[in-house]
Amino acid sequence: MDAEKNIFELSKPGRAGQMPPAAGVPDVPLDNLIPQEFRRAEDAALPEISEPQLVRHYIRLSTYNHHVDKAIYPLGSCTMKYNPKINDRLAALPGFAALHPELPEKHCQGALQLLYELAGDLAEIAGMDEVSVQPVAGAQGEMVGLLIIRAYHRKNEDRKRRKIIIPDSSHGTNPASVALTGFSAVPLKSGSDGLVDPAALAKVLDDNTAGLMLTNPNTLGLFEKQIEKITAMIHEAGGLVYMDGANLNAMLGLVRPGDMGFDIVHFNLHKSFSTPHGGGGPGAGAVGVTSRLAEFLPTPRIACAPLNGDKFYRREDVGKYSIGRVQAFDGNFAIAVRAYAYIRSLGPEGLRQVAENAILNANYLASRLAGDYDLPYPLPCQHEFVLSANRQKKLGVRAGEIAKRLLDFGVHAPTVYFPLIVPEALMIEPTETESKESLDAFAEIMVRIAREVETDPDLVNTAPHDTPFLRMDEAKAARDLDLCQPT
Ligand SMILES: *Cc1c(COP(=O)(O)O)cnc(C)c1O
Repeated sequence: MDAEKNIFELSKPGRAGQMPPAAGVPDVPLDNLIPQEFRRAEDAALPEISEPQLVRHYIRLSTYNHHVDKAIYPLGSCTMKYNPKINDRLAALPGFAALHPELPEKHCQGALQLLYELAGDLAEIAGMDEVSVQPVAGAQGEMVGLLIIRAYHRKNEDRKRRKIIIPDSSHGTNPASVALTGFSAVPLKSGSDGLVDPAALAKVLDDNTAGLMLTNPNTLGLFEKQIEKITAMIHEAGGLVYMDGANLNAMLGLVRPGDMGFDIVHFNLHKSFSTPHGGGGPGAGAVGVTSRLAEFLPTPRIACAPLNGDKFYRREDVGKYSIGRVQAFDGNFAIAVRAYAYIRSLGPEGLRQVAENAILNANYLASRLAGDYDLPYPLPCQHEFVLSANRQKKLGVRAGEIAKRLLDFGVHAPTVYFPLIVPEALMIEPTETESKESLDAFAEIMVRIAREVETDPDLVNTAPHDTPFLRMDEAKAARDLDLCQPT
């Protein structure tokens, strides 16, 4: 059957798809476009197949991978939600997609206005005063935030401040960003409730502390209840407070980092604001700061000159303390378009509903699963929660095997073995875009697997059974990658 073969096996000489007839006007000579020395001597060995064969080939491949257009994708910490397709359409409008980044400002006023207004919207959402949309990943936003902390202490000639405190419930990129920017990371153990313990914080806080980097909600999906006390303690010690706001979808319209005392926050516009996340695709990690840190933001800053006919421009003259440019041009512009369309189409009420539904869905699902799996930290949670497969491990089935068994039911696995502070962690984020029916179906599958662990653990330990590829040798796949030949 065609569907089982790859396109090289299907190839037959002379077979081809449809081509429109020649236009009847002379072609530009190829030599004018690609000089002879850069052209290949022989034709490439491309398969010769018909159009339907080609379409089936790609459709078949698209079903091998799990994706959010196929079914629920509850990968904790990653926000794999369904994003409105209309925002992709808007980003693809020729006036946006075909813009050349070197275009003079007077010819791209609309694009600059969009960036300017997006920064303003993000500032309002987070309670910050200024936002740069230049960084192109959450982790790059973290780097920018930390460079701002460094620039701030340098300006104050306070160079001994080298320590950044990071709770052990923070995202894994946080300590990496701290190391990358030349600080040293000081880990802080969470209390038994999974939250930062102010007494433990006081013990590591001193006048070498440059700041605190905190993921909120933390990777257990919990909101830091004592956050105002924590930010005040850091400020009293002369440090700054950074919030990893990658998972802002739990807060939209409900609370604002700026009101909690944070000085810096980064957003993941992919994840929270309508660009699909994952697969190493492009990202956008905008960074917001309070007014006292605005002078350190990257250059250029998108600005508006109200006295000059509301002209939008890239402002370079932002003083000598800016950390400088961190990305070519204006960052990942198409992601900014999606974020802008998402924010403006939902409006304040819609954004608030996003957060409320994200929280409701996570708590509903957690409550449905808490009887069959261990829930190490009590509810309520925010947009995600972490189960432990400790009980299943005692019966010989580990979290990773439960994740693999889920694939047999056409469901993507949750994040496993992270956060590290939960043994046999299954980190689940249903997202705001799943219906109750979809959550119920997922819960029933999870419960069914819990029963299988009790009655037929081998079935789970040998999963998946029904996927196009069965158990991968993960170590070999990483060391000896072969993307060409299905085996
Ligand atoms: C995803 C995520 C990051 C990193 O974002 P990238 O764009 O993948 O670099 C940082 N912190 C948290 C909490 C995240 O969920």
